[in-house]
Amino acid sequence: MTGKPIFEVKPESVSLYPASAAATPEQETVCIFGTGDLGRSLGQRLLQSGYRLVYGSRRPHSCGPVPPGAQVMSHEVAAQSASLVFVCVQREHYDFLETLAPQLNGKVLVDVSNNLKKNMYPEANAEYLQKLIPGAHVVKAFNTLSAWALQNGPSDANRQVYLCGNNPEAKQAVAVISTKLGFTVQDRGSLSAARELEDFPLQLFPEWRLPMRLTIGLTAFFFFYLLTRDVIYAYVDEGRDISFRIMMSLANKVFPSVSLILLSLCYLPGVIAGFFQLYRGTKYKRFPDWLDRWMLCRKQLGLIALALASLHVLYTLLIPIRYYVRFRLAGSTISQIKSNKTSPFDTTMAWRTDSYYAIGALGFGLYLLLGISSLPSVSNALSWREFSFIQSKLGYLTLFFCTFHTYLYGWDRFLYISQYKWYTPPGYMLCLVVPSLVLVLRLLLLLPCVDKSLSRIRQGWERTDPENDSKKSLLA
Ligand code: NAP
Repeated sequence: MTGKPIFEVKPESVSLYPASAAATPEQETVCIFGTGDLGRSLGQRLLQSGYRLVYGSRRPHSCGPVPPGAQVMSHEVAAQSASLVFVCVQREHYDFLETLAPQLNGKVLVDVSNNLKKNMYPEANAEYLQKLIPGAHVVKAFNTLSAWALQNGPSDANRQVYLCGNNPEAKQAVAVISTKLGFTVQDRGSLSAARELEDFPLQLFPEWRLPMRLTIGLTAFFFFYLLTRDVIYAYVDEGRDISFRIMMSLANKVFPSVSLILLSLCYLPGVIAGFFQLYRGTKYKRFPDWLDRWMLCRKQLGLIALALASLHVLYTLLIPIRYYVRFRLAGSTISQIKSNKTSPFDTTMAWRTDSYYAIGALGFGLYLLLGISSLPSVSNALSWREFSFIQSKLGYLTLFFCTFHTYLYGWDRFLYISQYKWYTPPGYMLCLVVPSLVLVLRLLLLLPCVDKSLSRIRQGWERTDPENDSKKSLLA
C-alpha cells in the first residue's frame, strides 16, 4: 500500500472549507433578557439561525420553558456573555436594568417594547432605556413583529424589521442578525424615530379609516333620506304602512347610491390634481395635504364601492322571489283575467328596462375588473402602463356606464312633479351629482388645448422659467 491519499486534491479544485479551518465556525452568542412570549419566539429563531443563546432571567432556575439548546442565567452573568442583548421585558419593569449598567456599558441593547396606547409615556421606550444606561448603544427593532410571526418565520405581511438608533455599528449588528433570521431591514434613522416605530403596531387599518368614515356617513345619510321620502311620507301623506320595504327596496337604493358616489370619489381627486397643475403651471409643487391623503385611499374607496355594487346586484337578483313582488304580479294577472283585458306590450318600456339592465351589467363587469386588477398579486404582474390603463381609462368607462345606468333608471321621471315628495328630489338624482361633475370635469381636461398643456406640465414643463423668471402664457 502506498501513502497516496484516497481523495487526491487537484491543484485547480476549489475547496469551500479549507482543511485548515475549524470544523464548525465559532458561534456568536446573543443574550435575551426575559423568558416571556417574545423572548421565547425570538430565541427559537436565533438558535435555528446558528446563534448560541443565553437568557437573563429573574428566576434562572424556575423560569418558564425555553427553547432547547439555550442557557438561562441571572441577568448579570448573561449580560457578560454577549455583546448584544435583546431586552424582551415590558417597559414598566425597565428599572432593574439601571443596576446592570456596569455589565451593559458598551453593549448593543435592542429595545423591542411596545405600549398599549399612543403617548403613554413622555418619551419613547427606547429613549428611556438609553437614559437608564447611557453607556450602552440602544437600537429600537423587532417591535413591529409579533411573537407568533417570529415563531412561524417571515411571511409576506411580516417580512420587515424596522430599526433606528444613534450608533451606526450597533444598528449594523442588529441588521446582520435580522438578515440572518430571514427579514429585510428598514433603517428609520436615529433613536428619535423610536416613538414612530412604537406607534406602528397600534395602528388599526389606517388607510381604511377615511373611506370607512365616508361610507358610514353616506350610508346613514341616504338611509334616513330615503326612509323619510319613501316610508315616512307614505305613512303620513297616504296612511300606508310600507315599512317592510326597509329590508330590500330601501337597502337596494342605498347600496348603489353610496357605491356610485364612492366610485366617483376615486376619480375626483385625480381631476382636481389636474386642475391644480394647470392653475399652478407646474407639477413640482406639492398638493395640499387633504388631496394627498384622499389620493392615497382611492384603492380602499374603490374596493368598498365594489362591495356595495355587488350587494346591489345580489339584492336585484332576489327581487323576483320577494313575497311583495309575487303578490303584486299575481294581483295584476288576476285583475286582467277578471276584466278580460290584457295590457299592450310597451316597446319603449322594454327598451328602457333592457338598456338599464344591460348597461348596469356592463358597468358591474368593468367594476369587477378594476377590483381584480387592484389585488397585489395581479397588479404586480402588470406593467405600470397596463395598470394605469385599467385603473384610469377603464375606470372612467366604468364610472360612465354606472352613471348612465342610473340616468336610465331615472329616465324621464325627473320631469314629474309627483317625484319630488316634500319638495325633495329622489335619492338616485342626488347620487348622480358627484359622478356627473367628475365626468364633466374629466371631459374638460380632455379638450385638446387643455390636454396638451397638462401633458406638457406632466412631462416637466413649467410656466415660470426659473432662469430669467419671465412668465410665459400657458394657454397661448
Ligand atoms: P411577557 O410574556 O409578559 O414576558 C415578559 C418577561 O419579562 C417575563 O417573562 C419575565 O421574564 C420578564 N419580567 C417580568 N416582570 C419583570 C420584572 N419586574 N423585572 C424584570 N423582568 C421581568 O411579555 P412579552 O409578550 O414577551 O413581551 C416582552 C416585550 O416585547 C414587551 O415590551 C412587548 O411590548 C414587546 N413585544 C411583544 C410582542 C409579542 O407578540 N408578545 C411583540 C412585539 C413586541 P423572566 O421571568 O425570565 O424574568
